[in-house]
Amino acid sequence: MGTLDWKNLPFGYIKTDFNIRCHYKDGKWGKPEVSQSEYIDIHIAATGLHYGQEAFEGLKAYMGKDGKIRVFRWDENASRLISSANGIKMAPVPAELFREAIFQAINLNKKFVPPFGSGASLYVRPLLYGSGAEVGVKPASEYTFIVFVTPVGPYFKGGVKPVNMMICRDVDRAAPLGTGIYKVGGNYAASLRALVAAKESGYGSALFLDAREKKYIDECGPANFYGIKNNTYITPKSESILGSITNKSLIQLAGSLGIKTERRQVPVEELAEFSETGACGTAAVITPIGKIVDPEKNKIYEYCKDGKPGELTMKLYNKLVGIQIGDMPDEFGWMTVVE
Ligand SMILES: *Cc1c(COP(=O)(O)O)cnc(C)c1O
Repeated sequence: MGTLDWKNLPFGYIKTDFNIRCHYKDGKWGKPEVSQSEYIDIHIAATGLHYGQEAFEGLKAYMGKDGKIRVFRWDENASRLISSANGIKMAPVPAELFREAIFQAINLNKKFVPPFGSGASLYVRPLLYGSGAEVGVKPASEYTFIVFVTPVGPYFKGGVKPVNMMICRDVDRAAPLGTGIYKVGGNYAASLRALVAAKESGYGSALFLDAREKKYIDECGPANFYGIKNNTYITPKSESILGSITNKSLIQLAGSLGIKTERRQVPVEELAEFSETGACGTAAVITPIGKIVDPEKNKIYEYCKDGKPGELTMKLYNKLVGIQIGDMPDEFGWMTVVE
C-alpha cells in the first residue's frame, strides 16, 4: 500500500480490500454482502454473458483538504442505473440500496482514497448484470449488483493536457433508437473497433457522429463533447448519447460563471467555428481537445495551438474540481460526505 505512487496512477484497475455484492431473486433484492474476492461465480447460461444484460456506473470519491471524503452527485448515478436497468429490461437497483453499497465500499477501502492534492481519486464502479440462466432470448429472473472501487489517475493521461481525436465515420456506437442513452456494456463493445483504430492512428479517442445522417457530433467514446464560441458552451443534443452527469454539471457551472449554454445539434462543420472544444465525463473530468481530424473528409480542426487548454475550459475545470475536492463552496449541493 505504502508503495502506491498517487501522483502517477493510471486510469486502471488496482486491487483494493473489499467489494460489495447483492443478489436479486424471487422478485426481490437481498442484503448487500461484503466480499474480499476479486472473482465471481457465474452461471454458464447467465444472460449477462450471452445477451448483453449488463449496465454499469462510474463515480468518484475525493479526499478533501479537511480530511473528509466526498462523493460527487451519487444520486444522479443511482437514477441513471435505474434508467439503464429499465432500458435493457433488468431489475433496477433501488437508490437506497445503491447508496448503501457505494458508501460501504468506500468506507471499507478508505486507505485507497488518494490524498488531497495528488490529482487522483477513488473511482467507484457499480455493476449490474443478469445472472439468471436463460437460453431463449428473454430477460433473466435473477440479477447481481456489485460495487468495487479502485484508485485512479485521470483517464486521458497528462491531466489537463489537450488530446487529439479522430472522427469516426465507419462505426456507430449506438443506433438512433438503440441503447446509446443507457450506460450499457454493449455500447462499449460496439465502439471498440473505432476506439482501437483511433488509438492505432495515434489519437486519444474516437469522436462519433450521429448514426442516422452522419452530420452531427454525438460524443467521444466514453465522454460527452462540448465546444465553446462567443462565450457560449455548446453541447450536442442527440437521441443516442449518454447523458453525462459531468456535462450536466458543467452547464450549471457555466451559467454561474456568466457563460451562456446551448444544448442542440452540432453540425460537424461547426467544429471550424469553436475557439475551444473538450471531452467531459467522470473519468475524463474535462479534457481539452487539441486537434480533431476527419480523415475521410480530409479536414483538420485545431484548438489550443499553444498546447495550452483554452481559458473557459480552465475556468470550468477549476470550478468543477474545486467543488469536488472540497476546496470551493458546494453551491449546488452536489457533494455528500462519506461518514
Ligand atoms: C459514462 C459515460 C459518459 C460520462 O458520463 P458521466 O456521468 O459524466 O461520467 C459519457 N459517455 C458515455 C458513453 C458514458 O458511458
